[in-house]
Amino acid sequence: MACKTTFAMTLTAPRVLQPRDIPLPDIADDRALLRIEACGICGTDCEQFETGMRVPMPHIPGHEPLGVIEDIGDGAAKRWGVDVGDRVAVETLLSCHMCKRCLVGEYHLCANRQVYSTIPLADEHGLWGAYANHMVLDARTILHKMDPSIPAQVAVMYNPLGAGFRWAVEIPNTKYGDSILIMGPGQRGLAAVIAAKSVGAKTIIVTGLTADHAKLELAKSYGATHVIDIENENIRDRIKDITGGEGVDTVLDVTPGATGPIEDAINVARVGGTIVLAGVKAFRPVAKFVSDKVVFKELRILGAFGVTSSGYRKAIDLIHSGAVALEKMHTHDFAVADAELAIRTLGREIPGDESIHSCLIPEH
Ligand SMILES: [Zn+2]
Ligand SMILES: [Zn+2]
Repeated sequence: MACKTTFAMTLTAPRVLQPRDIPLPDIADDRALLRIEACGICGTDCEQFETGMRVPMPHIPGHEPLGVIEDIGDGAAKRWGVDVGDRVAVETLLSCHMCKRCLVGEYHLCANRQVYSTIPLADEHGLWGAYANHMVLDARTILHKMDPSIPAQVAVMYNPLGAGFRWAVEIPNTKYGDSILIMGPGQRGLAAVIAAKSVGAKTIIVTGLTADHAKLELAKSYGATHVIDIENENIRDRIKDITGGEGVDTVLDVTPGATGPIEDAINVARVGGTIVLAGVKAFRPVAKFVSDKVVFKELRILGAFGVTSSGYRKAIDLIHSGAVALEKMHTHDFAVADAELAIRTLGREIPGDESIHSCLIPEH
C-alpha cells in the first residue's frame, strides 16, 4: 500500500471540524478500502455540523461517497461483484439484512441500522465517513458500479437524484401525464423535477423564495412547467389557475424547517391526491393542521425517509445516459480540509455565494 495513513476531517464538537491522519487498517475478507473521489454535501451535513447528530464525537462525517476500490477481501469481491479499480457509489445505510423490516424489503427502516458518517472514530478503524481520502466498506454495504469516465462531480449526484426518484416518483407513483408540485428548489427539489420529467409528468410546478431565482430558472431548464415565488405570489391562487381549479395529483415537500408548506400542501392537493413529506422540520408541529381536510379530500400523506437501491439505480441509469445536463446543478468543489467552508456555503453563511450542489474532492 502506498500510504500507511489517510487524511480525514473529524467532527470533535458541534461546529468544530479538525484534521487528522488516521492509520489505514488491514482489510478483512468481507470488506474493502475505498479511495474517495468525491463526497456530496447536503442539508444533513449542515445539521450534523451544528448538532453532531446525537452520536458520539469525534466521528468522520460524509454520507454521500463515490470512490474507487483500492483494496478488497476475496469474500467481498465475490459478494459484491467488484474488484480493485472499480468505481462505486456507496449507499449510506448499513442494515442488518436479518430483521423483520429488512426481510420484507424495507431495509432502509432496519431496526438495527447504522449510517456511514455517524459511527464514532473509536469504533474499530474509525474510517466510517467520507470527509476523508479513504473509508472502509463494511460487509453490510450496498454499492453500485459506476462508469469511471463520468466526472466525479456529476457521478456523485447519484445521491440527490436517487432521492428525486424515490420521493417524487416511486413513493407517490407518479406517471405519464400527472401533475406534481415540488416545494423547495434546492438540489433535492431539482432532482425531483428531473425524476418527474423522466417519467412523463405533464405539469411540474416548483416553489421557492425570491432569493431562489437562479434555482427556479434551473428548475425550468430541467422540465418545470411553472415556478412560484411564494414571497410574491399566492400559492393557492396559482395552483388553482394552473390546474383549472382541480389541484395537483401530488405534492412533494423538501423544504427544511418550515411547516407552512405542509398546510399549503393539504390545501392545493387535489381530492384523492398524495402528499409526500421529505423535508425535516426539527420535530416542530404543524400549527394549522386540519385533519378533516385529509378525511374529506381523502388525501394520502406519506413520509419519505432516505433512498433505497431502486431509486439509486434509476439515478445511476440517468447519469450514465448523459441525457440531462446535470453539471448545471453543480456549483462548488471543496478540498476535504475545507469541509467547514463547504457546509457554511451551503448554509448561506457566506454572503453572495450560493451553493446548489457541492462536493468535497480529496487530493490523492
Ligand atoms: Zn445527503
Ligand atoms: Zn434489519
